[in-house]
Amino acid sequence: MLFINGAIFDGEALLPAGHALLVEGGRIARIAPGAAFAGYAGPTIDAAGMTILPGLIDCHAHLVLGGELNPAAAVTGISHVELTLRCLENALASLAGGVTSLRDLGGIDHVELRVRDAFNSGRVFGPTVRAAGKFICMTGGTNYFIARQADGPDEVVKAVREQIHAGCDCVKLMATGGVLTPGVRLEHAQFTCEEMTAGVNEARRFGRPVASHAMTPAGVLNAVRAGVGSIEHGVLLDEECIDEMLARDVVLVPTLMPFQRLLASNAGGVPEWAMEKARWASERHRKSFKAYYDAGGRIAMGADTGTPFNPHGNAAWELFHMVSAGMKPADALKAGTATAADLLRLDDRGRLREGFAADIVVVAGDPLADIAAVADRAGHRLILKDGRTVLDGRASPAGHAGMHLRFGAVGV
Ligand SMILES: [Zn+2]
Repeated sequence: MLFINGAIFDGEALLPAGHALLVEGGRIARIAPGAAFAGYAGPTIDAAGMTILPGLIDCHAHLVLGGELNPAAAVTGISHVELTLRCLENALASLAGGVTSLRDLGGIDHVELRVRDAFNSGRVFGPTVRAAGKFICMTGGTNYFIARQADGPDEVVKAVREQIHAGCDCVKLMATGGVLTPGVRLEHAQFTCEEMTAGVNEARRFGRPVASHAMTPAGVLNAVRAGVGSIEHGVLLDEECIDEMLARDVVLVPTLMPFQRLLASNAGGVPEWAMEKARWASERHRKSFKAYYDAGGRIAMGADTGTPFNPHGNAAWELFHMVSAGMKPADALKAGTATAADLLRLDDRGRLREGFAADIVVVAGDPLADIAAVADRAGHRLILKDGRTVLDGRASPAGHAGMHLRFGAVGV
């Protein structure tokens, strides 16, 4: 399949006009000026007026959650069978929204790891998944109701070993309070630096990077000094945080969307104590994100997908929120593709390069001029995962909802 006449953003930059891209056997076979394909007689897609992008990568998702207003209540007492179905459904909804790879940063009882295996082995057609296993937090810490609670360095080491034994790709440590857990405060550090360091070192011995939920300076500094690879959320980053993060090349996964969605919702149903924390965080968060961006810090897209009002399938809106908070569209696209792939160690995804997997999103218009062209899925025209069609909405954009694979191409 040869794409001609479209603009090509390769994950880092826009290619000179006139390039064409050839997909063969699920891979990108060649990218070259159109003249190089003279004599080609196979199927051709005329992408005039469209932009060809790498499939998006959501670095912060929760497959067990589907946007329910009270996550703790939504998962309490639910069977593993039901949770498995939710994970499948949610992952496929993400894929239909242009997310061809995602990282699950906290599931339940390792159900999501088995779903990951089903996708990554090809048993079920879906997104490529990286997963952390259970949240690891202190007793009563953030998300304690589904987390592995651990206290003291030895216990944290054991908790990390349990996730590795279950087959995690990375580890998630909770460094501060969180919005959706009752009784914890965003400004309180939870794990000590000593506990975090023990966890990070143990994960590192077995080649697992660590992502840390960290909202405010004391916890951010504990996590960064312990050696985590990414700070998730980073609601309040002071100068010291930014300096230490830059010095260690820590990736910030800001997850701006859940706060913006919570505050925009006004629909009720979310506990007031959670809304209060979201109100406190919102503007500080946007400013901290912008400060790290301006300082030259690495940023990857993650939408905290699955949190209230933030169901799977809408993660691309995170790009819009990053741009609204001051990021250039080209940098937001890079955060959602190339930088995200680097963070997840996806060596052959996140960029349009010869030999890479054909994970591709084609959108109408120019997302470098207006990020909504990709953020709003109504603008998606074609989605390929490993060269297989997830969505083909070129004939009738309105047909999008009816065409996504959730109802058609699940390989079970
Ligand atoms: Zn999360």
